[in-house]
Amino acid sequence: MKRSTRGCGCAVAVLVLLLGAGGFGFWKYGLPWLRSRPPKPSGELQVHVLDVGPIEGDSILIISPAGKSVLIDAGDAGKGKVVLDALKRYKVERLDYFIATHPHPDHIGAADEVLNGIKVANMIDNGVDLSTPAPAAPAKSAKGKAVAPPPPPKKSKTKGVNNFFDEYRDALKQNGAQYEKAAPGKKYDLGGGAILTVLAPSEPFFTKDQMKTGGNDINANSIVLRLDYGDFSMLFMGDAEAQTEERLLGKSDLDLKTKVIKIGHHGSKYATSENFVKRVQPEAAIISDGAWNRYGHPAQSALDRLKAANAKVWRTDLQGEVTITTKGRGDSGKLYEIKTAKETKEDVWAGREAMKDDSSRSGFIAYGDFGPPPKPKTEKPKKK
Ligand SMILES: [Zn+2]
Repeated sequence: MKRSTRGCGCAVAVLVLLLGAGGFGFWKYGLPWLRSRPPKPSGELQVHVLDVGPIEGDSILIISPAGKSVLIDAGDAGKGKVVLDALKRYKVERLDYFIATHPHPDHIGAADEVLNGIKVANMIDNGVDLSTPAPAAPAKSAKGKAVAPPPPPKKSKTKGVNNFFDEYRDALKQNGAQYEKAAPGKKYDLGGGAILTVLAPSEPFFTKDQMKTGGNDINANSIVLRLDYGDFSMLFMGDAEAQTEERLLGKSDLDLKTKVIKIGHHGSKYATSENFVKRVQPEAAIISDGAWNRYGHPAQSALDRLKAANAKVWRTDLQGEVTITTKGRGDSGKLYEIKTAKETKEDVWAGREAMKDDSSRSGFIAYGDFGPPPKPKTEKPKKK
């Protein structure tokens, strides 16, 4: 600051200035950041499977016993408010991890809304990049004449997905979250003894050509996670279906047995295969689905497979938000508890009727074909 200081030697002065600026920066930004810590440790692990219906979607909030928070997916566009409201309700002021299982609108459609609404420390996705190619091409008109920009894709199909993805990536940049590609085997210490492990996707990624029946490569490359806390364990399948399950089953050393499972792809008939259910042996299966979905989620066959394995079922389309709480020990009673936002008179074991096959690729991508809610089978007695 003083001239005399400068006189002593530039290097020292610069160092002092840098240290000063660093200290000020830490005081101004670092401390508030450190202080904006989420809920206090409660000794309880919470998993909230949010209700982002009635149009289909996934969004799951984990709050660890140490207060660390993880959001898995954010639901479809427009659902950001539901997610942000839930974060507020559970006093999450900052997300430690935001995991996008795969780039489909019903999972990352509202990712931008969430990223714009809350500070995120770490963003994890499967690395599949659906960004719209930069419109730099028309600028290459250096050959002479100005080239008109390429017309937008005929249908809003692909464009829709790319828009979601572009918005997600833009918001991610704005948020400043640390980006990371999911790596199978990687463990995240959520504190208090809770560990989140990435199980999938593993390389090589499934390609379109490998999706012969009932498959969608983007779903197949979903991030699959396992959460462990004491004696409690839970699997989060994203939209993974049978081929992903098979790949997991192929890893004989992989511990897939868990108490609870958020089943794959909203209860699609192509997921939750018999062998997989046998290996996981879930006591409780959570189905995140929307009452307005036209893909027949959950499928009767998937429900039947869970029933045959003696699992109990909870459904967001009928019961709203599903919350699982556990202290990680079952010695003083139940190991975990499951509560729902509302009661249902419907039969949770009754599947919905499909109005279109959920293996159709365009079915996922178009996603704009939601009309009035198709009545679930169980609501059908009066109307046929
Ligand atoms: Zn989905």
